[in-house]
Amino acid sequence: MIVTCKLCRKLYNGQGKICPECRQRLDELYPDVRDYLRDNPKLAFNVETVAEALDVDIRYVQELVAQGYLDRDLPEGMSREVLSDRQKLIKAFETSLDKMKSDAAIAASHKSVTYGQEVYGDKLKRR
Ligand SMILES: [Zn+2]
Repeated sequence: MIVTCKLCRKLYNGQGKICPECRQRLDELYPDVRDYLRDNPKLAFNVETVAEALDVDIRYVQELVAQGYLDRDLPEGMSREVLSDRQKLIKAFETSLDKMKSDAAIAASHKSVTYGQEVYGDKLKRR
């Protein structure tokens, strides 16, 4: 399948949205960005600042963030700000799915309580 790389706009034959060369560039760029963030812990994370400091295209830094490369290197919540709205929606959806799963697990575990406890629990809830 011929697709356009979303980073360099080059046509390539393969899967996904990023060509093999850009993928490799991201892999090589990641340690640099990580080290930069580690060496500048007081710097508020900003893709423009990082891209400028490392002299790389801002889209590569954005892509690193979007792909979650930097999630563990950023303070909680920071990387979310640069995610697109669509990705935010996906994240929110995943979070609610996880919650539904855990709610279902809790409900399932409650089924194992004795009849007496169940009735007692219901009475408590209605009050
Ligand atoms: Zn590319």
